[in-house]
Amino acid sequence: MAEKTDDTTLRATLSMTTKGGYGVLLTIPTNTTDKEIEGMLTTINSADNLANLASMTAPVRSSGFAKKEAKPKDYTGQICPTCKEGKLYRMTTKTGKQLIKCSESTFINGIAGGCNYIKWVDDKPQQSAEERYY
Ligand SMILES: [Zn+2]
Repeated sequence: MAEKTDDTTLRATLSMTTKGGYGVLLTIPTNTTDKEIEGMLTTINSADNLANLASMTAPVRSSGFAKKEAKPKDYTGQICPTCKEGKLYRMTTKTGKQLIKCSESTFINGIAGGCNYIKWVDDKPQQSAEERYY
């Protein structure tokens, strides 16, 4: 990106991320020598190292979409019997029902995809046959 400024000097603005993950905007006038640019980059590199030495943390950048599930999955330790690849995990629905799902299942924009394995966890005492067929 180059823009004309008031003093009619052309400047290039570079947006970059340091090794430590810090965002840097570097504005370089076009009459800057390579040596000077190198100096700027060295300064940024030192600042990056010093920030890391001071145990600062760079802001976490989301890669486009934020992960919907913040909580770690409650894995059962079993492998999915349907796809034989996914790991089974427990989850609770909005209505409080417990179920076991496969980690290979997806739910994007309201559409379920991937592995369709679902096992409802019946945490209520078993109904007797009489009640069931009443
Ligand atoms: Zn599966």
